[in-house]
Amino acid sequence: MSFTLALVGRPNVGKSTLFNRLVGKRLALVDDQPGVTRDLREGEAKLGDLRFTVLDTAGLENVTDDSLQGRMRRLTERAVEMVDVCLFIIDARVGITPADEIFADILRRRAKHVILAANKAEGNAGEGGFLEAYSLGIGEPIRLSAEHGEGIDELYHMLRPLAATFDQREQSTAPETDISVDQDSEFDNTELGEAEEVPAWVPTIKRPLQIAVIGRPNAGKSTLINQIIGEERLLTGPEAGITRDSISLPFNWNGTPVRLFDTAGMRRKARITEKLEKLSVADGLRAVKFAEVVVVLLDAAIPFETQDLRIADLAEREGRAVVVAVNKWDIEDDKQDKLKELLQTFERNLPQLRGAPLITISAKTGRGMERLHEAIIRAHTIWNRRVATSRLNNWLLAMTEAHPPPAPGGRRIKLRYITQAKTRPPGFVVKCSNPEDLPKSYERYLVNGLREAFDMPGTPIRLYLRGGS
Ligand code: GDP
Ligand code: GDP
Repeated sequence: MSFTLALVGRPNVGKSTLFNRLVGKRLALVDDQPGVTRDLREGEAKLGDLRFTVLDTAGLENVTDDSLQGRMRRLTERAVEMVDVCLFIIDARVGITPADEIFADILRRRAKHVILAANKAEGNAGEGGFLEAYSLGIGEPIRLSAEHGEGIDELYHMLRPLAATFDQREQSTAPETDISVDQDSEFDNTELGEAEEVPAWVPTIKRPLQIAVIGRPNAGKSTLINQIIGEERLLTGPEAGITRDSISLPFNWNGTPVRLFDTAGMRRKARITEKLEKLSVADGLRAVKFAEVVVVLLDAAIPFETQDLRIADLAEREGRAVVVAVNKWDIEDDKQDKLKELLQTFERNLPQLRGAPLITISAKTGRGMERLHEAIIRAHTIWNRRVATSRLNNWLLAMTEAHPPPAPGGRRIKLRYITQAKTRPPGFVVKCSNPEDLPKSYERYLVNGLREAFDMPGTPIRLYLRGGS
């Protein structure tokens, strides 16, 4: 029995004034959010019998710095996409300005429902601007005076029928369920030592493969999850496949039993300002903890932003297998150049995930789903890989011969022995003299060598140096 409404428009048209009127000043005070969206305010509005969440986008626009302006614009676009209804406000006394046209353009392309309001039209003021508003091509405007409370009843009459359709939508969504986060027991240092060799033929997938799709708001997570689950849901009935809340029930994806962790699902239940703020670290961590394979979903138009990098890095640090999927590839014109650029940025920014697959997809059209499926299976297999101790030690010998470890103070560090102590992700113990003196660069040399020699691209590799003879 609720929906979300965003107040959109250039600075000074009266968004905040209307926000205060709809929400009441008491609530308006407490809702300021810090950070990029510092001036975004969200509150619970009351209008007749309607109850809804209202988002004041004031503050998204009036930034002078160029790049920030682009950012703010994108945030506005996202806000517009996230809410159910946009109330587009113009200043009736000023008439239509170029900035209004820009907002009109965003709204025409992105908003689900737009109500156009010519504000500051108390009494008979602003008649010219009111008439001009028709030219924006987003329907019939209403006359409003946020300051004097005129036209609010008309707003109510526009919202009422929309609210009824949203109510129906609410009734058909799945009930909430508890989230249980399944976590692998962490690697225990005391268990280091000679690992049990597991024959290669032992199947690695005994339970559903756990996949988390994480990425910034609007990257296309929900679309992707629907694309993956959609078909199967038809096969298995409405109960089985539906993403309930955050974790799906197990289902078959191209013959692989999988479970999906849906961070977008978490977000659907969150407040709009929280959605606009990017995925919180805690949410990301929860998803990453759940997952064996983390799909970092990027928007091809704005790939590898700080938040994306943080998420990918988080996944690596938690030792998860990572697959990078670049979404919305359908709207990319220059695919070849773009791909080259993406791969370069990836290498530069995430050296710790060297060789991780980067798959271009369109969650919307379904292109690339098979390649994504394959990449996930492969990443999972590598993540579970176990290398025989004899092979490892032959390799170590060759590595140290090719590039002997340094000899600080004249005493050469000796790497004596290597064995794989764990999988998921692969972890190796190296016995060596003076492990604390071994430079990081040499560790990287070993890790990269392991990757190449035993075909383990993309997966985090752990190296544990142990002293003693
Ligand atoms: P915002 O930047 O879009 O949030 O605009 P504000 O709500 O801060 O309003 C900008 C200015 O317009 C303020 O001085 C308001 O007092 C004034 N204003 C807002 N609504 C009305 C209205 O309905 N009539 C008149 N005359 N002024 C208004
Ligand atoms: P989420 O916030 O990450 O869950 O993103 P959504 O799944 O809600 O998608 C955000 C917007 O991007 C929606 O308008 C989608 O229709 C659109 N979108 C998602 N995937 C694609 C895609 O592959 N191609 C195009 N062109 N648009 C997409």
